[in-house]
This record gives sequence, C-alpha cells and structure tokens, in this order.
Amino acid sequence: MRREELKHPLAGVRAVYEELAKRPVERFCQTRTGCCRFQLTGLTPPLTKGEALVAAQGLRATGRKALPETDEGTCPLRQRARGSCLIYNDRPFGCRTHFCDAAGGPYPRKQVLDLIRRLEETNRCSGGDGPRKIQAALAVALNEIS
Ligand code: SF4
Repeated sequence: MRREELKHPLAGVRAVYEELAKRPVERFCQTRTGCCRFQLTGLTPPLTKGEALVAAQGLRATGRKALPETDEGTCPLRQRARGSCLIYNDRPFGCRTHFCDAAGGPYPRKQVLDLIRRLEETNRCSGGDGPRKIQAALAVALNEIS
C-alpha cells in the first residue's frame, strides 16, 4: 500500500482514539496488562484494518520489523520483561475500552457505538475485510506498511 493511501485509515483511527479520550467515562487503566494475557481473560481484541495499521506503525516506531514471539495466550505486544504494552499510545480500540475490572470494567457500548461505527467505516473504505484477531491483523498490517 502506498504512503498516501495509508493516510486516510491512519488519520481516521487516530481521530477516533482522540474522541474516545474526551468521552466522560471514568476509566483508570493502571497498566497491569492483565487484559493482555488472553488466556486469563478468554478474550482476544479484534482489530479493524486501520487499527492494525496504527498499531503496526507504533511497533515500527520501536525499531522492530516483526512481531515479537509469544505464546498463543499472550499479546505479542506485551513486553515480557516489564509486562507493559510496547505500543501503549497506539494500542487498539478494544484495549482502550476493555473489560478490565481494575480499570472500571467495559465501556457501555451505547457510549462508544458511534466510534465503533466510524472504525467500521474506515475499515470498509480502506479495503479491510472485517476485524481480525490482533496477531493476524498485525501480521498483515506489518506487510502493508513495509
Ligand atoms: S496491544 Fe498492548 S494493551 Fe492491547 S492487548 Fe496488546 S499489549 Fe495489551
């Protein structure tokens, strides 16, 4: 994908993240990263194409070209040594609105439904074929931004 073509989904997704940060939903992510260990929660974040491109861009900014290896039950972006997220500022929507009890539980869907629709629209406009699990979505996105 050419650089100009990337701009639209990247800008669209970043605008959604900015809007989400302004929503008056009380959240307190303590970066415990329990939600990044999928085997504990039984849930793996699904990413639209734009979210995956933003996350892949964040990973590239760390100097990495490929996903770090991990086991199936843990997010590849969770740093083993520190336990923190490698791309915290570029983390996907699901990681911002997740189900972590310590952070306040999930966002009420009706409070973010318009943002979900915007992500879906960005996905359609950028030729995405629907949300994919984070590992698969990132593998494709890393190829696209190379
Ligand atoms: S992208 Fe970051 S915040 Fe989201 S599950 Fe992976 S390590 Fe956790």
